[in-house]
Amino acid sequence: MLLRLQTDDYSVNYKPGKLMFVPDMLSRAYIKDDRDNISDDIECFINMPRSYTIQTPYGNTYRRNTKHIIKTNENFENVSLDDEIPYELPNEDTVIEKEKSDNSEQPYTTRSGRTIRPPIRYKDYDELEMRKAMFIGELTKLFSSNDLHEHIIYQTLFFIDARNKDDPEIHQLTTRLVDIAFKQPSWGQPMPVAWVPLEIQLSEMKTARICKNFVKKSELQGYNLQNDDFVLTDSQFENFLKIQHSLGKLLYFGEHGIDDFIVIQPSALVNVLRSFVTDEMFWPKDKEIVEILPDLSKTGVIYRTDLYKLWEQKHFKKLIPTEDLRKFIIEVLIHLDILVEPKQYSGAGGSADFFLVPCTIKEKAPSSFFHTEEMDEKAICLSYRLKKSSVPSALFFKLIGSALNVLPIKETDGRPCLYYKAAVLSVDNDNECRIHMEGNRIVVNLINRTSRLQILPDIAASIQECLTLTLTNVLHFYYTCMGKDIKQFDILKLFDTEVGTPCGKGFCFIPVNEAITKKTWTCENKTVHTTDLLLNWMLDETFGKEECPPDCSGIPTVVLFESPSEKHLMRLASVLDITMFHDFFLHLGMETKDWHNIQYTYWQSVDAMFMALMTWRDTGSMVTFKKILDALEKVEDNQHHLCKVLKEQLELPEIAGFGFQDTPSESFLSTLPNKLGYCVLPLGIELGLRITDIESVFVRHPKQLFSQVYEVLKIWKQKTPENTYLNLMLAIQRVRGKQFLKRNFGCDN
Ligand SMILES: [Zn+2]
Ligand SMILES: [Zn+2]
Repeated sequence: MLLRLQTDDYSVNYKPGKLMFVPDMLSRAYIKDDRDNISDDIECFINMPRSYTIQTPYGNTYRRNTKHIIKTNENFENVSLDDEIPYELPNEDTVIEKEKSDNSEQPYTTRSGRTIRPPIRYKDYDELEMRKAMFIGELTKLFSSNDLHEHIIYQTLFFIDARNKDDPEIHQLTTRLVDIAFKQPSWGQPMPVAWVPLEIQLSEMKTARICKNFVKKSELQGYNLQNDDFVLTDSQFENFLKIQHSLGKLLYFGEHGIDDFIVIQPSALVNVLRSFVTDEMFWPKDKEIVEILPDLSKTGVIYRTDLYKLWEQKHFKKLIPTEDLRKFIIEVLIHLDILVEPKQYSGAGGSADFFLVPCTIKEKAPSSFFHTEEMDEKAICLSYRLKKSSVPSALFFKLIGSALNVLPIKETDGRPCLYYKAAVLSVDNDNECRIHMEGNRIVVNLINRTSRLQILPDIAASIQECLTLTLTNVLHFYYTCMGKDIKQFDILKLFDTEVGTPCGKGFCFIPVNEAITKKTWTCENKTVHTTDLLLNWMLDETFGKEECPPDCSGIPTVVLFESPSEKHLMRLASVLDITMFHDFFLHLGMETKDWHNIQYTYWQSVDAMFMALMTWRDTGSMVTFKKILDALEKVEDNQHHLCKVLKEQLELPEIAGFGFQDTPSESFLSTLPNKLGYCVLPLGIELGLRITDIESVFVRHPKQLFSQVYEVLKIWKQKTPENTYLNLMLAIQRVRGKQFLKRNFGCDN
């Protein structure tokens, strides 16, 4: 950090985010600590052997006393260190140290323009103290507005002479770091004894002699199988990896396609990132590759071949020597939204020959991007105002990266319209979507070539729904990386959604709740704006929720003892209120941890409630409508939810021009996804797909929300004998309402 401050003249407002947040995010990527499933591991404690030997893959034998294993404060002093494995600092730190010593003697200029010429050696005590005080002052000021400033420790600043290995401050720094480590919440928690052999095998791989950064999961599994009495079962092994990941000891992405390797040295991934996410001063001078990084910061595009050329540099070749490993790294970077595959390649089977890298682009959007006068009458606007006082750039880069999975990037003159904190996404030939960041606000403009009257409400609502979901996912990722265990549904409280319009040289916005109640509003420029078109961003969600007539006596008694089907549970999930669901779920006889586990996997509230109801159904005990009704009675006044669930809506709006018994063509189906919004599970269930089929869609298209919907429609067409317009319309009517059918199933089709 000192290095950064010196070379950049303190103008580092966004760079700390890039340089520290990304490594921080990677090294601490967090997985919910699923300790409930490791009870059998814990049981090992009961019959803990007094000592045992471990054979490491590299032929060393360690004899361990059991008291080494329980990492608690109490036993700390009794541990003898004779057979401890030597601990090596990760390479990264060594590199920084060296750079610091090279640069520490350069003069530099402070923000106020004063040039400081550091002394050759900090032997002069007063000089040292003076500079410490100055740095503390500058650092405090620099980070004072940061949300995390309370976590930054200024008061002990270490000045280490990197050329002197006996510098007394090294020892002081070590002591301080150990103090901090002791305060970590995971410190001192007992660890299953069965993990010890693997832990030792892993930490030996990290030592200087072997210096492994990555290990194949199958290789580690092989060592596990040789650990005699301590062999972990497959699920225990998986759990071991996930908890090690959550503790930041290694990186393991237990997801399809990126679970072959384990990053045992988290800093290695950060070092790989430095091959292309780096500062101008570190760009390589090598002839072959000298142009790659300037091009990247101008266009945001990096070719796979260029990435490989960068990785041919000695340092990176040593880090990721094999083709397998390079492919794994690329997949991980895609998973983290650092590299973004251009949309046209995804799902087509082949892999992209170039990637977009939102976090490296320096090029500003052209001035036409912000010409609101030209957008007037052509655009409707949407804004997400984050309640945080400062929004890290990394968050926005990730948001852009994820949004590119929803809509493809627009290209003009062969150049993707990706800019610094801004992008143009392509909707169709007549519409585009511009997205940019202004302070703590994310602004989205949906622009039609001729007039905003031409913008289809279903497309606007659908884009809004997917972008909102994307934003909540990104915020969730960001918060969990910070070690916060935030519930998916609390994330909606972190930002306000507003709708708006271009006005003069800027935009005018109004909160959605207000817009719904007003036909017009007068803005600060004394202009009167109407809300009707702006509300196209929001889906009319009243369909399917019509209240019962006053004389409704609820569902017939005979039905009460029947079991609800998947469709019934899905419909129930879509009428329930997420805020009362937890209570309701407990009254069904389920446990809090079941609900928490589901929320961890399913992002959307309706999806999560449905999957939770499915786990209840799988318990098999008394799964009846009566049971649901009883549980509902305890949490809500409204006793007519089940009426809505059971009511079959067989009437379709009268639409002429095609046969209800015909099978829709694939080209017709392809027009639906970007209008249907995010409704993969509800639509799939209403279409009668099996849950396993729907889940396979999530696995094959993990991020592309519209592709998921399209895939569900295609599976339905292929696998269902009754794949008629009639059945499609009945399902869509349930999910998106009657008006949607009228707008999208007209004579033209
Ligand atoms: Zn205005
Ligand atoms: Zn009723």
